[in-house]
Amino acid sequence: MNNFIVMQGHTYQEEKELGIIWSPQQDKGGKTPHYWRRMTEVKEGDRVFHYVKRNIVAISIASEGCKTASKPSIMQSHNRWRNEGYLVNLKYHELETPVNVRDNFNKILPLLPIKYSPFQQDTDGNQGYLYPCNEELAIKLVELISELNIYQINDEQLELSIDDVRRTENNTLIPVIAETESEAKTKIRLGQQKFRKDLIPLWEGKCALCGINLSELLRASHSKPWKDSTNVERLDPYNGVLLCCNHDALYDKGLITFDGQGRLHISSVIRDEDYLMYGLERTSKIQIRPGNKVYFKWHKKNIFKTI
Ligand SMILES: [Zn+2]
Repeated sequence: MNNFIVMQGHTYQEEKELGIIWSPQQDKGGKTPHYWRRMTEVKEGDRVFHYVKRNIVAISIASEGCKTASKPSIMQSHNRWRNEGYLVNLKYHELETPVNVRDNFNKILPLLPIKYSPFQQDTDGNQGYLYPCNEELAIKLVELISELNIYQINDEQLELSIDDVRRTENNTLIPVIAETESEAKTKIRLGQQKFRKDLIPLWEGKCALCGINLSELLRASHSKPWKDSTNVERLDPYNGVLLCCNHDALYDKGLITFDGQGRLHISSVIRDEDYLMYGLERTSKIQIRPGNKVYFKWHKKNIFKTI
């Protein structure tokens, strides 16, 4: 199962009424931007979060995969779009209390991918239509939806009598939330297990930097993180390095990185006189395989903190 975020704006009501999302296939110049082409990736059972005017207002489940379909008659007034399009039928579950993206942006920001992020750094939604939503972001969104829409205690009831406190159960929403969260967590867990199993032998079961070989202290560290990787990249054992907890944390935070030759680079955030304390040596070089190169370069370019 995959998750998506759709930016709907003024077409939300029309599309909700029809139980669909729809996009043109091509712009006036005959090009198909990524956010329209992505419509063709939607399969039955996939989840879509609906973003309208700074809020997540609904979550839906695709009842079938994407198909080609002309512009629905109710949307004919949108003249700037060509008639040929992509359509997905969905079951909408509108939220009683929408999730404001700006109010929750500090929780959302670390989970946004570098490429194809639905939201900008200033918290606004991006132009375009359908964006990917990685599993970590989906889990966060359903958590925020749950906080506002499930198990809410009515303040008035609380004041009148504690015995009368009832939880507000939105019965159609609960299973959608529960399944979305559980499927996303399972996908991450199984992916991490396979990644670790395949990666450990490539590094002879020890930290590439300090040689610690106690399995409990070893982490299979992604070079290109889960949120930024395709499904294939997430499981590719070359997209990572085996490190002890300490070095994994430094790598994950971009305080150390490796170049295409496997040479260690240490961020200037760490002072020279502290290298020993962190178990780092300026001249370290690790043995890498050709498959590692592209991922190490990506990490150095995108995660490494240079100031
Ligand atoms: Zn280490």
